Amino acid sequence: MDSPGAPGPSTAGAGAGSAADGVAAPKPPQLSRYESQKRRDWNTFLQYLRNHRPPLTLARCSGAHVIEFLRYLDQFGKTKVHAAGCAYYGQPNPPGPCPCPLRQAWGSLDALIGRLRAAYEESGGAPESNPFAARAVRIYLREVRDSHAKARGIPYEKKKRKRGTPAEGSSSTAAGGDAGAGGSGSAAAGVSSGSGAAQAPAESGGTAGGTTAPSIS
Ligand SMILES: [Zn+2]
Repeated sequence: MDSPGAPGPSTAGAGAGSAADGVAAPKPPQLSRYESQKRRDWNTFLQYLRNHRPPLTLARCSGAHVIEFLRYLDQFGKTKVHAAGCAYYGQPNPPGPCPCPLRQAWGSLDALIGRLRAAYEESGGAPESNPFAARAVRIYLREVRDSHAKARGIPYEKKKRKRGTPAEGSSSTAAGGDAGAGGSGSAAAGVSSGSGAAQAPAESGGTAGGTTAPSIS
């Protein structure tokens, strides 16, 4: 009658061990300025979608929505763009203040779209459905560029044609009024400088375009 080795209820220590020793989330080692700016822009856009009325998801986002987003950003701009009726329309260096609105500079918007286009695909979006690459967006940007160039008197494009102008006829260019015209030395309107310009709006619980009262029936 000896039952040897009664198997004691050895409580196997399976209890511990699981949760605690977490895998420390890999911290990204210093993003480049471009990368961190891109991340901020992307978050700003996602936040814009979240606040959008009616609700809008990324999957349903079209080029038209992107343009809407760009228009929304204009209120945070810092670039004076003269209205057609302003006395300073077309003047690069107006001698005084005017009530024309501040807008996002074209170069800022252009760079912003480039970052968002990349961010969209990096977050899993298919290139062929990338709303930031939509043709409408490209056209919009071109229109902004042209209208700002006129309003501010700053050409964004370098002159390409340099054919010798055939000075035919005696169009006496007397009235030497237009100084400046010859200059063109200005290093094509600083796209390159544009770091801070497109600052994300961050807070300002931005209900773009007035509160739309939800008509509950
Ligand atoms: Zn003005």
